[in-house]
Amino acid sequence: MQCNKCRREAVLFQEYSGQHFCEQHFEADLERKAKHEIRRQRWLAAGDHIAVALSGDANSSALLYFLKKLTSNRHDVRISAITIDEGITGFRDPGIATGIARLSDMECIKVSFLERFGITLDEIAHQKGITLSCTYCRVLRNFLLNGIAIEHGVTKLALGDDLDDGAASVMKNILQGNPEILARSERTGKGKIPRIRPFISIPHKEVALYADFHARGYDQSRCPYNNEPFEKDVRGLLNDFTTRHHSTRYALMGLKKNLNNTCCTNADLVPYCERCGEPTNGICRSCRIISEVTTHGA
Ligand SMILES: [Zn+2]
Ligand SMILES: [Zn+2]
Repeated sequence: MQCNKCRREAVLFQEYSGQHFCEQHFEADLERKAKHEIRRQRWLAAGDHIAVALSGDANSSALLYFLKKLTSNRHDVRISAITIDEGITGFRDPGIATGIARLSDMECIKVSFLERFGITLDEIAHQKGITLSCTYCRVLRNFLLNGIAIEHGVTKLALGDDLDDGAASVMKNILQGNPEILARSERTGKGKIPRIRPFISIPHKEVALYADFHARGYDQSRCPYNNEPFEKDVRGLLNDFTTRHHSTRYALMGLKKNLNNTCCTNADLVPYCERCGEPTNGICRSCRIISEVTTHGA
């Protein structure tokens, strides 16, 4: 197949646009969309220090490359990376992430659950069972990312989430009946570093292809504890649905955007966690997990 723009050989077919792209035009298309999202959300400003949450997987590695390229002519913006070693045997060798950062000549701050919490995720999974370990991992990872960002004067945390992640999250909240989470916009303040997601409007397949071209050697291992059946089913459902209805994921993201604009008053009536401001009664589950682990080591 030939590229629709230049007749070179195509590397990608976009079902939702009906276009074939060669490597060069694919790259231009992806970067244009990511830049558009950054402009639309006002995610980049003079004086910013943006830290990429670099796990070493396709998305975070591609994001580090993209942000470095985007800001290569700007002396008023700093990009670095934060890598967290959760302590999971056989998964996410932190050497891969630091290697990716070194390839892009980027500063990479490395911390581990063990040094910060005195416990590894292997030990947490052993104590709590693998049904709970994903929740513990996510909560502690976010808590640590935020803390390290504050320690290093980071102004924004960049996450590699793509369209597949964003749409799955919207669908999950619909199916679990969480209108308050769907309708609120991301909360900042209270010591929470703002998160930016430049790839949020780009399908995973394209982000992975971009990583193949620019972040060779990224981590392809899968977490042995990955055991969230609901999440897995939602993703399966969306994969299946999208093969026949190409714009489904965009529609879900559009729904979230519209709800953010129209329902914020109702969402703001929900009581918030006394410690972190997430919608909940009393103290939220995340804050309870954090105090459990920081005071007793799980
Ligand atoms: Zn082309
Ligand atoms: Zn909380």
